[in-house]
This record gives sequence, structure tokens and C-alpha cells, in this order.
Amino acid sequence: MTNLKTIKHIFRNPGPSDIPCSQLPTMFPSFFEVGFHDFHCGFGWTSLIHYMLLILKKNNSNLRITYIKEKYRFLHISYTGDDDFGEQVIRLAESASAYICESCGKAGREKDLDGWYKTLCDDPQCHSYD
Ligand SMILES: [Zn+2]
Repeated sequence: MTNLKTIKHIFRNPGPSDIPCSQLPTMFPSFFEVGFHDFHCGFGWTSLIHYMLLILKKNNSNLRITYIKEKYRFLHISYTGDDDFGEQVIRLAESASAYICESCGKAGREKDLDGWYKTLCDDPQCHSYD
């Protein structure tokens, strides 16, 4: 089983992704319903979600993801199944999202966009993200 400390370290800086998140259900079919397309968050978190799925797979998790979205500037993942370790991995990915720009995947922090709170980097290009 992968050590939670190691996972925290991996999630801290997952880097940018070179694949669209829509490809993840095909790459990790056991974690998604057929035809899953409920990705409601920015491209910047794709790499974080990808690493999370790799760790779940490596640890033979039986969880099934039902929804992925942004909620109060955090990544929010809904799932079914019963796997304590897998649930901890998902919680860690959700907390790590508070430090990753949801738009580009670089280091980010809380930004107030006219009362709309998002986790973004300092690049103004990412601030027009919606
Ligand atoms: Zn950014």
C-alpha cells in the first residue's frame, strides 16, 4: 500500500497535464461508469486527478467515481464503494487542490475574483477562467 506521506508529496506538485480529463475514464475504466462525463472543474487539476487514479489503481481500490467538480475553490469528488484507504487518497487530492491553479496546474492559492473564490496562480490569464 502506498504510504500517505508519499501521496501527499506527489499531490503537492503534480505539474501540468498533457491529456484532457475526458480521457481518464477510458484509461481507468474500473473507477467510472460507462459514459462518465461529469468533469466540472478546470483543466489545471487534471494531473492531480490522474495521479489520484494511478494510486487508487495501484492499491486495488473498489471505489467508483460518480462526480468530479469544483466546490468553494476545492476539488470535490463524489464516489460510491467502501475502501478506507481509497477515501483517504481522495481526501488528500481534494485538500491538495487548494494549492494548485485550477486553470493551468501551476502552484496556486486562494483568489477573490469579485467575491468569487477560486484557487488560481498569479497569471492574469488564469483569472479570466470561468
Ligand atoms: Zn494558472
